[in-house]
Amino acid sequence: MAIKIFCDFDGTITEGDNIVTLIKQFASPSAKVLTSDVLSGKISIREGVEKMFSTIPSSKKEEMTKFVTESTKIRDGFQDFIQFVKQSDYDLKVVSGGLDFFVHPILADYLPSSDVLCNRTDFSSENVIIHWDHSCDEHCSNDCGMCKPSVMRKFSSSDDFIIVIGDSITDLQIAKEANLIFARDFLIEKCEELSLPYIPFTNFHDIQTALNKEVLV
Ligand SMILES: [Mg+2]
Ligand SMILES: [Zn+2]
Repeated sequence: MAIKIFCDFDGTITEGDNIVTLIKQFASPSAKVLTSDVLSGKISIREGVEKMFSTIPSSKKEEMTKFVTESTKIRDGFQDFIQFVKQSDYDLKVVSGGLDFFVHPILADYLPSSDVLCNRTDFSSENVIIHWDHSCDEHCSNDCGMCKPSVMRKFSSSDDFIIVIGDSITDLQIAKEANLIFARDFLIEKCEELSLPYIPFTNFHDIQTALNKEVLV
């Protein structure tokens, strides 16, 4: 048995949600209505994100990259947590619905890019195109775009102990399959609603403390 941690990026490792911030700042006003359609489940996350980014000209690449990397704040304790995970021989994958042009640079100081799974951004056309390199496998029909449960299945086996860390609706499907959930914000509401047991956290020190107590091996 191995301990595998699948950790969200936006709103979990970072304090704010970069996708939401980028859309607010760069997408056309007509795209903003799509945000509520995604949250209400009217359209899939894939469709919503794709449509919102398709209103942004590719020429904004530099500006968007600068905007995100300068405004992002990493949640407290993440650096220590990375050390702790290494020492404990846990396997950590960052599973993000975010986009490579900001996820990879922000995480470059923390872990190898092969442990970071996210979406690919194509700036070669007039407007931004998103490529979903981790889409739903045959066990998922949610049209996730970035399919976190599919990534989990790819990188784990049935006897692994699965830990999921997340903050939002996009973490719900993978959280349902975890042995242990760390939740904040909207994911807490969802866990309550569905009676999924979870441990709340505000920073990565909380998670490290809890893991030292609860886990294992
Ligand atoms: Mg998130
Ligand atoms: Zn899926």
